[in-house]
Parts: sequence; C-alpha cells; structure tokens
Amino acid sequence: NQKLVDDNEEIFTTQQIMDSIQLGVKYEMEKRTQPVPDSFPDDFKDISMKMFYNWRDINNNNIQDFSYSTYAPSTFHYLRHLFGIGENDYVTSFCKSPLHEMSNPGNSKSKLYLTSNDKFIMKTVQHNEYISLLGLLFTYTTYMNENRKSLLPKCSGFYNFQCKSTYTKLLSMKNLLPSDIKIHQKFDLKGSTIGRKASDNERKKKLPTFKDLDFNYEFHPKGIFLKPDTHLALLKTIEKDCEILKEFNVMDYSILIGVHNIDSPSQADENTSTTEALRKAATDRWESLMADSLGEKSIQAEAWTLSDKNHASLSGSIPAKSVYGDRLLLFVGFIDILVPFRIIKNLDYRLILFKLKVTPGETETADCISVQPPGLYASRFLKYMTDTVFKPMLSPQELEKLSRQ
Ligand code: ATP
Ligand code: CA
Ligand code: CA
Repeated sequence: NQKLVDDNEEIFTTQQIMDSIQLGVKYEMEKRTQPVPDSFPDDFKDISMKMFYNWRDINNNNIQDFSYSTYAPSTFHYLRHLFGIGENDYVTSFCKSPLHEMSNPGNSKSKLYLTSNDKFIMKTVQHNEYISLLGLLFTYTTYMNENRKSLLPKCSGFYNFQCKSTYTKLLSMKNLLPSDIKIHQKFDLKGSTIGRKASDNERKKKLPTFKDLDFNYEFHPKGIFLKPDTHLALLKTIEKDCEILKEFNVMDYSILIGVHNIDSPSQADENTSTTEALRKAATDRWESLMADSLGEKSIQAEAWTLSDKNHASLSGSIPAKSVYGDRLLLFVGFIDILVPFRIIKNLDYRLILFKLKVTPGETETADCISVQPPGLYASRFLKYMTDTVFKPMLSPQELEKLSRQ
C-alpha cells in the first residue's frame, strides 16, 4: 500500500527531491567499481536500493528516512558508456552543484530538473510511463546499441525516491540543447495541430518552446532546408526511430528542435554567452558539413554525428538553411517517448472523436488530434516531418523566390 506521488500531489518539496537525487546518485555511482561494462547487460529487472536514515532536509529540518533505488544499474551503466557519458562526469554533473527546476511548458505535471552544467535532465515519470519503461528497456538498449545514430532520448539512469510510503520515479537523460551556444528558437513538434500553439505565458519566456502551429504559420512556413544527402539520412533515421516507437506501442512523443542561427542579426550584441571561438567553430562546422567535398561521409549520415573534439556542444548539430538563406545549426532529438497507448488514452481518443462526431481516419479532424493509436501517430508524425518540417535544399535563387511567395 505505497502511494505514487503523481499529478496533483505535492508531498515533497522540490528541494527534498533534488537533495535525494544528489545523495542517491552519488551513493550508487561510488558503489560502482567496474570501469566499463564488458558485455551486454542482463540486469533489466534488477533494483539496487539504499536507505538513508535520519535525513535532515535543508528547508524544514524534518528528520526522515528515505530510500533511493536505482533500476537496472548495469544496463544504465552500459547505456551511459554507449552514449559517451563518463561515470565521473555523470556523478559530478548531478552532485557537485545544486540542480535547477525547469519550468515545464507541457500539460503534464511532470517535473524537470536540470543539472547546473546543463548536461542532464532528470524528469519525474508517471506510473504508466514507468511501466512502459520497464517493459521496453531491453529492446531500447538493444536498439540503441545497434543504431548509433538514433535520435531517441539518451536515457542515462532510472530511479525511485521513496519516503513516508510515497514514491517518485525519476528518469535522467541527456539534455539535447547545448548551454554554451545561443539557441535562438526552440520547437516541440508532433505533427498534430489541435492545441499545438505556445501559450501567452510560454511566449513571455526568454526561450519559449514553440509548437507545430507556431512553426507552420509564424516561424518556418516553408520549412527548414537541408542538403539532399543530409535530408535523406535524417528522415531515414526518424523513420526508423518511429518504427521502433510503434513497436514500443507508445505515442504522444515529439521531436525537439533547437535552432542556432549563425546569421542572426542580433547575434553580436545579445550574445555574450557564445564565445568568439565557439561562434567561429559553429561557422566552420556549418561550412565544412555543407561543402560537397564531404562526399561519402555525409552520404553515410555522418553529417551530423561528426564530433567536434574542441567544441563538444556542437557535436551532432545538423547544418541547415532557412528560407531567407540564414545559416542554421539544428539540435534535434525525440523526447517524451514513454506514453503507452492503453486504455486511458484509448478512451480519450474515442471520447474526442465522439465529441467531434468523426471516426478514426475518416476525416482530417480525426488525423489532427494529438492522441492517436501508435501506428497512425507514427505515420502522421513522419508525414509532417517529411512534408512540412525538413525540406531538401534549394538554390539561393529558388529560396529567394519561395521566401517572397
Ligand atoms: P507533456 O506530456 O505535457 O507534453 P511532459 O511533462 O511529458 O509534457 P516533456 O514533453 O518530456 O514533458 O518535456 C517538456 C519540455 O521540456 C519539452 O518541450 C522541452 O522543451 C523540454 N525537454 C524535455 N526533454 C528534454 C531534453 N532531453 N533535452 C532538452 N529539453 C528537453
Ligand atoms: Ca511532451
Ligand atoms: Ca508527456
């Protein structure tokens, strides 16, 4: 008779949760002695638990006991290794300085905590997402191992914080967006249109998360342009990732795109955070990846995974152009992939269709609702990415003409 801390309950303060993460992650990581996992993990169902007694939290001085459990510790160790995350880097990122709570632009009540070096995000996951994750962990690990260019989230740890017979599930993942280079725009895209617009409150933020309708009508009505081989490779990757998400039987995921605009006119004055060296590296990366001479490499979809040894934050960024000819570097990845399509969503979907008096697939209205069975969701998602978001490059003249239409 334990209780899950979910949507509408605030049993722990943010500070308590963040403190427990720091203590729990530190303990678990210090316990690991094996430097690098030498074989494919097999502890998908294991849990390692640690009790912390007489814990005095900073805020209210309450003395409590709590436990912090780590799910599948070897599997996540293996995954971190796969994603190039050093064990020291991981523990230092989480434990050396306080975490910050990010304000969540979504509708769910999940909390997101960012490490102070911006490398990782810890997200509280709902009960059904937790069940989903346990079920797909093996397939996810195999898939990530075999598909190094996948854009699925890079999950790096999965935990349970339990106190006073309530618990909070926590998933850590890599932050998709770099912190040292200016991100000019951020989009959370699904390919649905109903309600897919940033709220007025969201728009007031320094870097709002914009959605499909903002992308389609305000920022990039003509899409974003990629070199043909990069374009092909990116869409193939997205297609493959969508296939596995369909297999996971999940939906409601998004692609997050962070846009760095090399030619942003306000670049010089506003951008004190991007150093001159990094700005130059961004331009160099863009120019070299766009150059035809890259030939075979880019055909093999290396175009965006080429790592930049001196400027790690640029690794994986994709060169592109806006319709106005601005040079862009894109940071792209899937997020929020754990929502299972089960009874509740099913009911939601039927209810919405009933209210709109349409049947699945029958009209356009049915297709634009964000809650869809996984197969339909994936195909609509892919269609949107192909037809609306990512376009093959045009000549400067053609772009110019298109921008005036
Ligand atoms: P909802 O279910 O209402 O859509 P949620 O609570 O499940 O939201 P997410 O969709 O996972 O939350 O994330 C919310 C926002 O947090 C995203 O739009 C994005 O701006 C940011 N975010 C989430 N994961 C990452 C990540 N790995 N890297 C960078 N930003 C992220
Ligand atoms: Ca979401
Ligand atoms: Ca969600």
